[in-house]
Amino acid sequence: MRKLAIFLVAGSCLAFGQDMPPVAKLLRELIHIDTANPPGNERKMADFLKPRFAALGFEVNIVDTPVAGKSHFIARLRGNGAKKPVLIAAHADVVGVEREKWTVDPFAGVIKDGYMYGRGAIDFKGGLAVFIEAVHRIAREKIPLERDIIFLSEADEEGGFYNTRWLAQQAWEKIDCEFALNEGGWIIRDKQGKVLYVSISTADKTSVALKLIAKGTSTHSSMPRPDNAIYSLARALVKLGGYETKVKLTSETRQFFGALAEVSPQPHATYFRDLLSSDPAKVAAADKFISEDTLLHAIMRDTIAPVMMNAGFRGNVIPGSAEATVNFRMIPGTTPEELADEVREVIQDPRVEVRVESFAASTTPMTPEQKADYEQSTRAMRTAKPSPQDNDLYRALARNAGIVYPTAKVTPYLFQAGTDSFAWRSKGIPVYGIYPYPIDHEDLKRMHGNDERVPVDSLVSGVELIYRTLVEVAAKK
Ligand SMILES: [Zn+2]
Repeated sequence: MRKLAIFLVAGSCLAFGQDMPPVAKLLRELIHIDTANPPGNERKMADFLKPRFAALGFEVNIVDTPVAGKSHFIARLRGNGAKKPVLIAAHADVVGVEREKWTVDPFAGVIKDGYMYGRGAIDFKGGLAVFIEAVHRIAREKIPLERDIIFLSEADEEGGFYNTRWLAQQAWEKIDCEFALNEGGWIIRDKQGKVLYVSISTADKTSVALKLIAKGTSTHSSMPRPDNAIYSLARALVKLGGYETKVKLTSETRQFFGALAEVSPQPHATYFRDLLSSDPAKVAAADKFISEDTLLHAIMRDTIAPVMMNAGFRGNVIPGSAEATVNFRMIPGTTPEELADEVREVIQDPRVEVRVESFAASTTPMTPEQKADYEQSTRAMRTAKPSPQDNDLYRALARNAGIVYPTAKVTPYLFQAGTDSFAWRSKGIPVYGIYPYPIDHEDLKRMHGNDERVPVDSLVSGVELIYRTLVEVAAKK
């Protein structure tokens, strides 16, 4: 497989001749570094980045976590200190792959038809490459700065304990800033390549796991009883599957759908407008239509997804209990306790206990102390305020998005998942999220999936956007 992949890489390079853009060359190198988490191996990324940043005059720092091979990388480009730093953060780890379902080697960085393929192409090695190119360009051009630019390559974002939450506890002085850029909103283009909108995330949804625990009589399977725990659990899950949470629009979601209404064809535009109306019948019809798009469905409401089940231990015993883990993604303002009540109401079965397990996002086994620590952080995360739209960083990003993508509407956005932004947002420091490359819905579907890819020309325009934004907020006037 490896040999074949190398052959494909060599063949596909021809399309770009000698002109493969530097950001694409860099992304290919980043994809080659296998940082699938677990275990992550982010130290390999730090070792790769260190000499490249040091050579351009950055002060570099590697912060090792207690897990061998898992490290954060921090590089600071000094300004004159007149203003507080701006931070630009990207996670180095990626999710694993189902290799047999990929049509290319997920760690080769194959280029085909204008796309670079590879795990992390969108989430978030593409962003890592774009952010690096942008800050390196500023360093190479020796632009005088009135504030430091801090670049951070994060460890353990994809479901671990030693992410930026941990880093903020250990080395806050190294990542303290006035505001920050991170992954988040989308630059969406249509099939013809026209960029429709740029959404900048100013808040994230948060994640919580509820456990459904059905109880019944444990007994010999030759004499079944009506209170079989597996049936109870199955009934509860079927009820949950037929249930839909109600529409909850935050102010940034309202702005987002307002922007969509302006750039969308009919009948979409009308439905987007109807969603914002005060007429419940219009909202319900709009919800039904819009919800066919799973991303839009997710930002309108708390979502429900059963993710794990566990029941039984041998073939001739009816188990006394059956469990399911259900992952909820909450709109800011919803509490896990409210959700648990809502779920009990739907299930209507006293034999099924509904329990909040708020630390579910982490895949790392934790000690009780670590669990308590994690719980406390996730609680802080749920009460974090959305980042404002009236500071220099938001304004610069929004303005330059309009310049680099003149056909696009620019809008704030509630991100449909969680990110590492909470390390700053929970301290009141604004963080703005963007996946800095135009992609379409087909590309978006592949994120965390198979044949993940990013358009090469989008990487190039992304560097322009981030470079211009950072120059605007950090260069000496
Ligand atoms: Zn990500």
